Amino acid sequence: MANPIPVDSYRHQGLRNLLVQKIRQKGISDPLVLAAIEKVPRHFFFDSSFLEYAYEDKPFSIGAGQTISQPYTVAFQSELLQIKKNDKVLEIGTGSGYQACILAELGAKVFTIERQKSLFDKTSKFVPLIGYHSIKMFFGDGYKGLPAFAPFDKVIVTAAAPYIPEPLLEQLKPGGILVIPVGAGDVQVMTTLTKNVDNSVVKKEYGAFRFVPMLENKAKEK
Ligand code: SAH
Repeated sequence: MANPIPVDSYRHQGLRNLLVQKIRQKGISDPLVLAAIEKVPRHFFFDSSFLEYAYEDKPFSIGAGQTISQPYTVAFQSELLQIKKNDKVLEIGTGSGYQACILAELGAKVFTIERQKSLFDKTSKFVPLIGYHSIKMFFGDGYKGLPAFAPFDKVIVTAAAPYIPEPLLEQLKPGGILVIPVGAGDVQVMTTLTKNVDNSVVKKEYGAFRFVPMLENKAKEK
């Protein structure tokens, strides 16, 4: 993010198109999700010295010990959310802001929480600069959700949760979906919890992924 007003060239657009083909081959089929990946310039979320890594289907370090998720993983979670236009979506783990921008492209009203102050400061300045003005960003602990803005149509957790935080289920509307990678070890199981109108919950599991840990409380300032 060294360059405050990045440029999206034909070359970048071409690389994005190849990335979309790759994740389609890996099984992502939702045309709206693929269009959002094609639209959002992922290299904007990288320091200029690492631009050539932006369109590989890999996670990448964004500083403060955190990563921007792999494009396939972003697409996979986005597909599971089944976003409808104007859905109110809560994201836990803002990080670079890339996933939040993908959700905004899908028509969601995005609320996102980050526990690391340095990342929060950097991302909350940067995201409006590249045109995503409607994303609401909060510095806080995602384990608590965002009770003042609940309920949400969808909730997405982008860090490894050792268990399913109860407040996130409580803050989900009936009919809503929570997408969360669950597991305390190296590998997590992508999980969806769908809340029925009678408030009962249906759980489904979708294979193994790797995320940085979801940690309790706001991070202490260094
Ligand atoms: N969605 C991000 C990926 C971020 S990696 C992106 O698109 O770039 C996971 C992020 O979750 C990290 O930035 C980490 O600091 C944050 N995080 C971990 N535990 C958290 C918590 N309890 N509340 C909020 N954010 C948390």
